[in-house]
Amino acid sequence: MYTSFLIKYGEIGIKGKNRRMFEQALMDQIRFALKPVDGTFAVTYEQGRVYVNASDEFDYDGALDALKKVFGIVGICPMVQVEENGIEKLIEDVIQYLKDTLTEGKHTFKVDTKRANKAFPMNSQEINMLLGEKILDAFPDLSVDVHDPEIMLHVEIRTHVNIFSEIIPGPGGMPVGTNGRAMLLLSGGIDSPVAGYMIAKRGVAIDAVYFHAPPYTSERAKNKVVDLARIISRYCGPIRLHVVNFTDIQMYIYETCPHDELTIIMRRYMMRIAEEFAAQDGSLGLVTGESIGQVASQTMQSLACTNDVCTLPVYRPLIGFDKQEIVKVSEDIDTYETSILPYEDCCTIFVAKHPVTKPRVDRIRKSELKLAEKIDELYRTAVDTAETILVK
Ligand code: ATP
Ligand code: MG
Repeated sequence: MYTSFLIKYGEIGIKGKNRRMFEQALMDQIRFALKPVDGTFAVTYEQGRVYVNASDEFDYDGALDALKKVFGIVGICPMVQVEENGIEKLIEDVIQYLKDTLTEGKHTFKVDTKRANKAFPMNSQEINMLLGEKILDAFPDLSVDVHDPEIMLHVEIRTHVNIFSEIIPGPGGMPVGTNGRAMLLLSGGIDSPVAGYMIAKRGVAIDAVYFHAPPYTSERAKNKVVDLARIISRYCGPIRLHVVNFTDIQMYIYETCPHDELTIIMRRYMMRIAEEFAAQDGSLGLVTGESIGQVASQTMQSLACTNDVCTLPVYRPLIGFDKQEIVKVSEDIDTYETSILPYEDCCTIFVAKHPVTKPRVDRIRKSELKLAEKIDELYRTAVDTAETILVK
C-alpha cells in the first residue's frame, strides 16, 4: 500500500551551503542505490525534506533494502501521501491509513501532528485531539497512551499531507561524496572491504587498487575482488578498481632482498603504487584493512615501515578492531561469504616462513637499495599496464 518514503537524515553540523551539498549528495546516492530495483522512483526535495515516490508497481522490499544502504539516512518512513483538502478529508485519510496498516489485537496509540502549512485552520494540538477522538470512535481495540504508545501516528500537514507510523533505521553516517575521495587497497580478504565500507560511511567516495600476481594468482581470485568491490559499491557508490599486475615486482624483490623482509618491502611498493593512482583519481588518502598485531606485517614496527613511503595520510579504520568484530561487520554488509572463498592472494604466494616482526626502517631502506637496477622500470610498467574497471 505504501508508494512513498520520507527520508530522515541527520542534520547536526550541516548548515548553510553545506546543507544543500549534503542533501544533493544524499539524493544522488539514493538514486544510485535504487537503480537496480524494480519500479521507477522519483527522488524529490521539498522544504528540508527528501522524499522517494515510487511508481504504482515496485519492489517494496528491494527499495527498502537499497535505502538501508545509503549513508546519511537515519530513518526511512514508509508513508501515505494525500492531498490537503480540509479537516474532514484528513480524518477520512487517517482512518483509511489505520484500516490498511493496523494489525489485529489491542494497541495503544498517539497522534503527533506537525503543521508546516499555517494556512490550515486548526493548530497541531487541536488536530491531535480531534483525530484521537475520531480514531477511538472508529477502532474500539485502540486506546490512547501519550507516554509510550505502540503506534506513533505522524501526520504532517504541508502542501500535501504525509501520514506514517513506522520509522525504519537507516545506516547513519554521511552521504558519500560529501567528504572527498580515498584510495582503498582492496584484497580478497575479510578486512579491506570492511575498511572501505567504514571510510565511505563518513561520506568519503572510494576508488580501489588490487594487486594480483598471475599466474600465481588466478583469474578467479581477481573476479572475487571485483565481486567484493561490487558488493561495497552498493554502499560506497561507483568504484574505479585499478588492477595492477604485481608479479614482476614481487619476483624481483624475492630474488634480490632478504626473504624475511619480503612482505614489508612488497607492502611498501603497494603503497607507492596506490599513491600513484590516488593522484590520478584525486584521492586525498589511502585506506587499508590493517589492524595492530593481526599478523607480522601489522605490528607497530611493520606499520611504521609501511608508512615510511607514504606521503598521503593512510587511514586504517580497523586499527583497534579484533578479528571477530571485523567478521561481524563483514557479515552485516554481506561481504563475508565472498571474502572467505578460498582463492589465493599475492601476499601468501612468496611469503617467508619467519617474517620479521620488528623490522627497522633503516634496514628496510637499505635492503630496497639492492633493487635499484630494475625497480623503476618494473614500477612504471606495473602502473602503465594496470587495468581499470568501473564497478557499479
Ligand atoms: P585483508 O583481509 O584485507 O586481505 P589481511 O588480514 O589479509 O587483510 P594483509 O594481507 O597483511 O592483511 O594486508 C593488509 C592490508 O593490505 C589489506 O587489508 C589491504 O588493505 C592491503 N592488501 C593486502 N594485499 C593486497 C592486495 N593483493 N591488493 C590490494 N591490497 C592489498
Ligand atoms: Mg590479505
